[in-house]
Amino acid sequence: MLYYKFSDYLKSKYGAKVYKLPINIPVTCPNRDGRLSDKGCIFCGEEGAGFENLPTSMPVKEQILQNSKYIGENYKSEKFIAYFQNFSNTYLPLEYFKNYIIDACAENVVAIYISTRPDCINDRYLEFLKGIRDEKIIDIVIELGLQSVNNNTLKMLNRGHGLAEFIDAVIRINKFGLDTCAHYIIDLPMDSMSDVIEGARIISALGVKQVKCHSLFILKDTLLGELYNNNEITPITKDEFIERTISFLEYLDPNLVIQRLIGRAPEERSLFCNWGTSWWKIRDELEAKMEREGNFQGKKFNYLNGKACIN
Ligand code: SF4
Repeated sequence: MLYYKFSDYLKSKYGAKVYKLPINIPVTCPNRDGRLSDKGCIFCGEEGAGFENLPTSMPVKEQILQNSKYIGENYKSEKFIAYFQNFSNTYLPLEYFKNYIIDACAENVVAIYISTRPDCINDRYLEFLKGIRDEKIIDIVIELGLQSVNNNTLKMLNRGHGLAEFIDAVIRINKFGLDTCAHYIIDLPMDSMSDVIEGARIISALGVKQVKCHSLFILKDTLLGELYNNNEITPITKDEFIERTISFLEYLDPNLVIQRLIGRAPEERSLFCNWGTSWWKIRDELEAKMEREGNFQGKKFNYLNGKACIN
């Protein structure tokens, strides 16, 4: 096995094909609405992370119904993950949040995945989620945007949080027995290979359960787009991206599930996206190189639990 694919994990855990249904609720983000900043992360487009969601005005139950009908028919799937994808889905009063989550506990929904920032989750939200997990017998995964473990990079990205907030959030999520998925941008030009390797090591040491890797999209009408147009930032090459991703996987705990290795962005909104190549061609190239060179996830996962101890 080259790496632990999400599809394999879902099949073994739920015994069937499982699809993520995007759910869109009326939230924003403290890094956009002025609480922390009004500029947002320099790569963030106006839609936040998601591009294919139904309108926020549509009730959660209806979104699940419509999406599950469409996906169920087209992809022959009977089990689903309700995925609160866009912006920071815990950035709203707890009472509202509770209602949205309860509405998502629909028939055939086996898990709820909630995307948010590391500084937008606390014990009160987690306690409620733990209760829902136990009462409804439904898995809960908190997807946290980390992107880089280099604090200087996080500042340059205008993330509005540092590494400490991510560490704190994961420790709390673990304490409540819930799972974390970390989002990580492998090819940030301001990061080095050693940052990416340290990212894999920190994610593994914290007991994060899943990772979603991204390639850097440079979208129109973003601060990053401005830097790109002014030649103040140059994307790394596709070969470097592949090298970084392989090293990232090698240092990662082999039990960590890889939700995705490379992302897709709508081309019409992008100034730069996946080196003008299909995401799946890059994935195939990466997998072929791993096969050829004998690389696999966890190959270098040998650094925890007192590596230097004598006994
Ligand atoms: S935290 Fe997410 S939603 Fe908020 S500005 Fe950054 S990328 Fe956009």
